[in-house]
Amino acid sequence: MPTIPFFKHATLREIIVTRLCCAADVVVILCCAGYLVARYPEVGLHWSWLIVALLAGYFLADLFSGLVHWVVDTWLDEGMLGRGIAITREHHTHPSHVLLYGFFDQASLGAAPSAVVVGGAATVTALFPASALTYALMIVWFVIATCMLFGMGFHNLAHRPVRPLPLRVAQRLHLVCSPEHHWRHHRDHTIRYCVINGWANYPCDRFRLWSRLERLVTATTGCAPRADDAEWQHKLNGAGIVVGSPRPNG
Ligand SMILES: [Zn+2]
Ligand SMILES: [Zn+2]
Repeated sequence: MPTIPFFKHATLREIIVTRLCCAADVVVILCCAGYLVARYPEVGLHWSWLIVALLAGYFLADLFSGLVHWVVDTWLDEGMLGRGIAITREHHTHPSHVLLYGFFDQASLGAAPSAVVVGGAATVTALFPASALTYALMIVWFVIATCMLFGMGFHNLAHRPVRPLPLRVAQRLHLVCSPEHHWRHHRDHTIRYCVINGWANYPCDRFRLWSRLERLVTATTGCAPRADDAEWQHKLNGAGIVVGSPRPNG
């Protein structure tokens, strides 16, 4: 019998929200691209700095994906953000189900925070007179906003059982997050949060960034990290949820 993801059904409101989140991030991407095209003749950034900015953007996009993933896994619950969070919880108990959701369901999780944070940063950058620095920063914002729109797509490539040779080579070269690298997160949900290329996982896990941030958040707010994890594991592993049944708060 084919596997059915638990939260495939979406209400009209949820469908509209996921598309609006993605559209907002696309607007940010297009505005960044427009700035880069329009300002290139006057700034004329040297190609070596273009490469540095692109690599910095690709690293920071990975870090941003990790930050969003950490927040979702550690502090949010379905009551706060509904179906999007439920799908991420399901991914921990049933990893292969993630391949059965549509593009907008997944892209909106990265697109929404990107539209707000990167959109804000790009707006502030554009307010300054154009220079090599503002141009390089805009490249960084452009790369982050683009990668966050496709962030879950990058992640999903690590879950595909069959992958073409060019992708396997790119994953082996760490240009894209590899299955071996990402599966450490599925064995231990407190590490390897970054899912675009995995570059940022090395410093973040080496310096225990996420657990230090958790202690800071707990000390300032009193909230416990992953407070509902056991409850979700119990529900999704079959004890409390029936596939196709209305979900809580649905
Ligand atoms: Zn996770
Ligand atoms: Zn995964």
